[in-house]
Amino acid sequence: MSLRTSLLLRQVSARLPGLPAAMQRLYSLDVAAPLLRTQGYLGGRWVSAGSEFPVLDPATGQELARVADCGPAEAKRAVDAAYEAFQSWKQVTAKERSVLLRKWFDLMTLHKDDLAKLITFECGKPLRESLGEISYSASFMEWFSEEARRVYGDIVPSPARDRKILLLKQPVGVASIITPWNFPSAMITRKVGAALAAGCTVVVKPAEDTPLSALALAELAEQAGIPAGVFNVVPCSREKTPAVGKVLCTDPLVAKISFTGSTATGKILLKMAADTVKKASMELGGHAPFIVFDSADIDEAVKGAMASKFRNSGQTCVCSNRFLVQSGVYERFLDRLGRAMDEELRIGHGSEPETTQGPLINARAAEKVSQQISDAVSRGAKVLRGGNRLHGSFMEPTLLSDVTAEMLCTREETFGPLVPVLRFNTEDEALAVANASNVGLAGYFYSQDLAQIWRVAEALEVGIVGVNEGLLSTPEATFGGVKQSGLGREGSKYGIEEYLDVKYMCLGGLRP
Ligand code: NAP
Repeated sequence: MSLRTSLLLRQVSARLPGLPAAMQRLYSLDVAAPLLRTQGYLGGRWVSAGSEFPVLDPATGQELARVADCGPAEAKRAVDAAYEAFQSWKQVTAKERSVLLRKWFDLMTLHKDDLAKLITFECGKPLRESLGEISYSASFMEWFSEEARRVYGDIVPSPARDRKILLLKQPVGVASIITPWNFPSAMITRKVGAALAAGCTVVVKPAEDTPLSALALAELAEQAGIPAGVFNVVPCSREKTPAVGKVLCTDPLVAKISFTGSTATGKILLKMAADTVKKASMELGGHAPFIVFDSADIDEAVKGAMASKFRNSGQTCVCSNRFLVQSGVYERFLDRLGRAMDEELRIGHGSEPETTQGPLINARAAEKVSQQISDAVSRGAKVLRGGNRLHGSFMEPTLLSDVTAEMLCTREETFGPLVPVLRFNTEDEALAVANASNVGLAGYFYSQDLAQIWRVAEALEVGIVGVNEGLLSTPEATFGGVKQSGLGREGSKYGIEEYLDVKYMCLGGLRP
């Protein structure tokens, strides 16, 4: 029986409540049965917990599946399994690890359509973007399958003739991986690809909203032949998260914690990890400035603004959050951006081919955007497009002009489809506003002035800067922020270093 003939074993249907009749229809999640996993994956076994939690389609509120609600006991079992597996995985040759990661990449590519459907249904993202995420997610398995074979140590010239100095790189051990819902697949592979390539084993705790993508990855890991205990997944409800998080951040067998999520949660995890002095990588919140200078190519700037703002309905950590536009091009930029929003953005269920704007992850997220809009309007901002909260967690893409630095939307990360536009006169003024933030993940600017490009790229206090470009992420480049946006870097040749220790070996007694 071919894989496709085993499809449609599970169907979940729902109507999208509150939408105009023309948009009412049934939405079905049809994926290959083996990819719709609902148990935890511990030590190479699929396990139930005492209870389950529901996974909902954020567009309809309908239940997609019920998933094992793992607690601290399952988390501890997973850590123990990972620790045991580490003893043999670290001995596996780099080439063998590379081959297994490559198989995992091949399987992700083979099943990309089903993996994308899972993302769309549990996270709300339009299907085209979900396919893009799977391609991005799989690319980390490919990249780190290649990097696995390039972990070089050093032989350093010694000051003594009877000694040699060798610097060896070794895997740190078991890594706890805690990930958010907005990239349910890629935030896992960006860490796990590097960890496994280095010779570490992992325990993954996915977000409550999006465990299905993580469990589908576990299914493919098993099919690829990743040994039992090397990759473990402990899904859990928000209620159990603190207790599971505590095990993952404090168990003495865990050597490293790698987290992607909000700055507030990152601080909690760092404090917990401090007691046993674990290594930590933190990919935290952003508040990206998007600056358009008078010399910019405005059509390109509009294209970049659309790409960097509206992906995943504005729910990415590198989303442009504050738009600073120089006086000479302010009106023109607003006019063209407004027209592009009218022409290109369509709200709907992510599985509809024409949808570009799915729901926000939940009603709380939509409420936050609404509050930022109300606050801005009460302080003098003008609504040029949108402004309204729709049914459920859907939110109209919104364009605001006359925004000032005191408004909530310029002080806090939005995580929604809101474009607040501030006017500025000088480069220094723009940089002062852009850098007046305690986080610094991504930043973007548009300019055709070469001297300005160097000045501004160097002066922006961020870890990732897009110059005349709105989409930046790729496995070849580093990903990570400065200030309270985090610690460490993912992707690139540096990503694997986060999972390696350097050991100094002094080889003495060598007679000259
Ligand atoms: P979040 O609330 O911090 O949650 C992220 C993950 O942490 C989820 O798995 C969550 O579990 C878990 N968590 C929460 N409290 C925990 C605890 N006490 N112990 C252990 N785990 C805990 O963040 P979010 O709202 O899902 O994601 C949005 C944020 O992530 C934004 O600030 C965004 O900028 C940031 N982000 C950053 C990057 C980056 O690469 N820098 C990438 C994507 C997103 P539950 O789901 O069960 O709550």
